[in-house]
Amino acid sequence: MRLVMLGPPAAGKGTQARLLAERLKVPHVASGDLLRDGVRHRTPLGMQAKSYMDRGNLVPDELVLQLIDERLQKPDAQAGFILDGFPRTVAQAEALAKRLQARGVALDKAIELMVPDEEVVKRISGRRTCRNCGAMYHTIFDPPRNVNVCNACNGELYQREDDEEGTVLMRIEVYKANTRPLSEHYERTGLLARMDGVGRPDEISRRILSVLDDTRAQPAAPARAKGGA
Ligand code: AMP
Repeated sequence: MRLVMLGPPAAGKGTQARLLAERLKVPHVASGDLLRDGVRHRTPLGMQAKSYMDRGNLVPDELVLQLIDERLQKPDAQAGFILDGFPRTVAQAEALAKRLQARGVALDKAIELMVPDEEVVKRISGRRTCRNCGAMYHTIFDPPRNVNVCNACNGELYQREDDEEGTVLMRIEVYKANTRPLSEHYERTGLLARMDGVGRPDEISRRILSVLDDTRAQPAAPARAKGGA
């Protein structure tokens, strides 16, 4: 399965993508994680991306596409993938569709998780990430056993710079301006499945899986109909 997760920051795309990736045995590819890796390892691309990320702006398409291209060419992504955070603009979606088409494949579905703005701010302000293994926690909804210590590896938990309140509001605006048109794009191409992103992760996961079961049950659409993905 080749899936794209859409939705505002902290809609639960990462959580759902991880659950789906495990279930479907395909990699979870998160553009934000790939970019943060580049920043951490001070790669030339990471250094160029950093200033955009710190301000909550989108990183230029050519940089993100370069990272995604490299990742999707790896052997583990040949049978499918769950994309999280990419595409974020219609231009990125079109670039992705072209690359897939060149390989004779297409996206199966774009899943959009709908979450109101005030819920986004509440979720993000409590979000903490392990510096070592990347595990995610929430100070209220999913606290670690010991304050600021990862349950899995004892790594230190930190708040991402771009999760601070001013930047979060900026990211919501950027989402509305650039990423929302994407759901219309995928709606037009018949790939969109929109669903309520508020609820327990296992409930949301069930909603997604039932949509995917329906997708698999349907006969494959002609390649041309999916080409606009
Ligand atoms: P995320 O972890 O998905 O919230 O992404 C964190 C930051 O990385 C975003 O605020 C952007 O600055 C950048 N970023 C991630 N994915 C993309 C993308 N597909 N296009 C442009 N910028 C991106």
